[in-house]
Amino acid sequence: MKYLITTHIHLDHTGAAGDLARENPDLTVFVHELGAPHLINPERLNQSVRLIYGSQMEEIGEMIPIPESQVRPVTDGDEIRLGKTRWQVVHTPGHARYHICLFEPEEKILFAGDALGCLYPDGAYFIVTPAPDYDQKLSLESIQRLEDLKPELIVFTHLGPSRDKTLFEEARKQHRLWVDIIEEVLRSNPEAEIDEFLKMISQKIPVVRDFPQYNSYFLNIGGIKRYLEKQKEKKDA
Ligand SMILES: [Zn+2]
Repeated sequence: MKYLITTHIHLDHTGAAGDLARENPDLTVFVHELGAPHLINPERLNQSVRLIYGSQMEEIGEMIPIPESQVRPVTDGDEIRLGKTRWQVVHTPGHARYHICLFEPEEKILFAGDALGCLYPDGAYFIVTPAPDYDQKLSLESIQRLEDLKPELIVFTHLGPSRDKTLFEEARKQHRLWVDIIEEVLRSNPEAEIDEFLKMISQKIPVVRDFPQYNSYFLNIGGIKRYLEKQKEKKDA
């Protein structure tokens, strides 16, 4: 039996899962129950990627469906056994509704997916807040849950392991800063362009100024704008 466990169904995590399942008929793909239907029928995922990436979609390629028999939906509190190790499924929404982390309680190893952001070998650490699901409140709650597990080793999908426990506090700080800054820019100019947001963000968040090569910051801005719109719609309703 071969297992593939995906923390969430964003393209950079699960984009090739359909191809892998097709080439390996004995592969089982574990995914949060909310994400499972989208792996079985990836049309909506492909549509949203097309919206964000436009013509680049041709290079990226489309996700192909995974047969339902190869998809194993999981939920918070489930346990996945891999040889002698047992991995707890921790539902950690905020980055995406259907995001899970995996925690191994003996050695206290946490596979964090994108719930804590990215940590690159050059030291760049930043949160990831893409549309359409980003939610500040849920992200902060998920970070607290992960910190309460007291992991000894945090394994970031982007990009590798770390034992730095100050990252939890840094993550909280960044979630507050990013949202505050984008709110402030929108208040003075509701039509602000990406460059205006980026300028202000680089002034106030050192990692963005120091590591301009990580050009995914525009995804963070888009996700937080969408989050603020949703908050406003809720208030107005
Ligand atoms: Zn993601």
